[in-house]
Amino acid sequence: MDEFRSFVRSNVRLSDYTRLGVGGTVEYFAEPESELQLLSLLESCRRKNLSIRAIGAGANILAPDNGIAGVVISLNKPAFSGIKKRVSKSEPFITAGAGVKLVQLITEAVTIGLGGIEGLIGIPGTVGGSLCDNAGTRNDNIGQWVESVRVANLDGTISVLSKSEITFGYRSSSLDTGIILEATFRLELGDELELSKRMQKFWIVRKSQQPCGESRAAMAFNSTKTGASASDLIDQVNLKGTRIGSATISENNSNFIVIEQNDNDKKNNEHSIGENIKRLIQLVQDRILEKTDIELEPALRIW
Ligand SMILES: Cc1cc2nc3c(=O)[nH]c(=O)nc-3n(C[C@H](O)[C@H](O)[C@H](O)COP(=O)(O)OP(=O)(O)OC[C@H]3O[C@@H](n4cnc5c(N)ncnc54)[C@H](O)[C@@H]3O)c2cc1C
Repeated sequence: MDEFRSFVRSNVRLSDYTRLGVGGTVEYFAEPESELQLLSLLESCRRKNLSIRAIGAGANILAPDNGIAGVVISLNKPAFSGIKKRVSKSEPFITAGAGVKLVQLITEAVTIGLGGIEGLIGIPGTVGGSLCDNAGTRNDNIGQWVESVRVANLDGTISVLSKSEITFGYRSSSLDTGIILEATFRLELGDELELSKRMQKFWIVRKSQQPCGESRAAMAFNSTKTGASASDLIDQVNLKGTRIGSATISENNSNFIVIEQNDNDKKNNEHSIGENIKRLIQLVQDRILEKTDIELEPALRIW
């Protein structure tokens, strides 16, 4: 990897890049400054048979305590963080790089009178991570607004996929095989002031329902196929507030795991937070299956 040393570091702690602050070291951590750098890195990884993963804001990733082999790629540099607008009655388009924060995309869209995605305000993450996860709410998801997505394939080529070539499922998409570079969204023309008010309302509701202020938090489970909310099920089986080490089911919303370190945890220096989160997830799944016969599926991407 010597040839890439200007943008690839070895043995980087993933805990610095995940919202939970969890994860050991990855063999190589790449922050390319251009598409050219990214493509030559992908090509080289393919030749060396190195596994490749992308990371956005790390809001939905649980990385193992003892680290991982291969390469983690972050598109956090300016080359991947631009926004382009093309707005007319027939072309209400906005294009955002994979590294753009979802909140920035939404606020920029609203500012120029483009609506549709304002209900997603407050979901932490980047455009790349949100498309891969098809992030959304009960009523809405980011995939439904996609016009096209540019993707770097793992063989070092680039494809532009139109909406009809992409499958968006519930908190999943077919975009999880390559590296998303940028996406164009077709939004709806609206009144800036009205859209801004709607966005603020959604933001207030979200803040009252989710532990948005918690720096170390993750959404634990997807809603069930029947639509039953994971937090209601967890409350029903009395697991709110349950802790394993510092991994805790949030008191604010039971579908969130937060890291609450007491003095004892800090003294023990907890090298197993990731493992404890996994055990907590398993405990909830087992209890809910036993009491309600429902299988909860983790929302977190467990690496
Ligand atoms: C407090 C809180 C509230 C949340 N609320 C919601 C909610 O209401 N709805 C919801 O859907 N989710 C929610 N989430 C989960 C999370 O915000 C979303 O999954 C978000 O889309 C993750 O974006 P990210 O950039 O952090 O992606 P990451 O967590 O970094 O990555 C997620 C996945 O995307 C892949 N990925 C990242 N970037 C790229 C790329 N450029 N190309 C290809 N693959 C990529 C990763 O490999 C990984 O598989 C919440 C999380 C928290 C902590």
